[in-house]
Amino acid sequence: MHSAIQNARKEARVILDRYPEAIRKNYVDVEKIARLAGIRVVKEGFEDQRVSGFIQRKTLDGQPVIVINDSNTPERLRFTIAHELGHYFLHSSQSVHVDDVDTADLILYRNQESSQATHIQEIEANQFAAELLMPEQMITRDVQELRKGNTGMSEIVERLARQYRVSQTAMAIRMNKIA
Ligand SMILES: [Zn+2]
Repeated sequence: MHSAIQNARKEARVILDRYPEAIRKNYVDVEKIARLAGIRVVKEGFEDQRVSGFIQRKTLDGQPVIVINDSNTPERLRFTIAHELGHYFLHSSQSVHVDDVDTADLILYRNQESSQATHIQEIEANQFAAELLMPEQMITRDVQELRKGNTGMSEIVERLARQYRVSQTAMAIRMNKIA
C-alpha cells in the first residue's frame, strides 16, 4: 500500500484519539470533530450542483470553515465533511480547497492505482474520511460480533452502513479493505 495512504489513515486515528468525545458508541460524529478542531460547518444550497463542498482555511473572522452542499444525502454530507477534514489536517499548504461530485467517488468507483498519480491528495482525503467515519477497530469489532450471530455479509453491510451513517457502497468497500 502507498505510504501516503497509510499516513492518511494514521492521521485519522490520531484525530480520533484527540477527540474521543466525538466517538459515539456506534458511530463517529464528524461535525463534532470539526467543531472541536475550531472549524465552522455551514450547510447551504449551491448554485453549482457539481460542487459537493469546500474548505476555506483563512476567513475574515479567522475561523476556518467547511461549506457543504445541503442538497446531498445526510450520508454524503458526512462523507464530505470528513473528506474536507482530511484536506485540513493533511494538506495545510492549501488555503482553499473545492471538491466536486467526482472527488469523493475516486475511492468508490475508480481504479485506485491509475488515479493515484494525479489525484493523490483526493485519495488521501478519502482514505482519511473512510478511517474517520468507519474506524478499523470499531468495524472489526462489529463485524466479528455480527458474524457470531451468523448474519450474512450483505446484511452486515446494510446494518453497519445504517449504524455508521454512511452509504452501503462506502461500507462495503471499507469492509473489503479491512477483512
Ligand atoms: Zn478533496
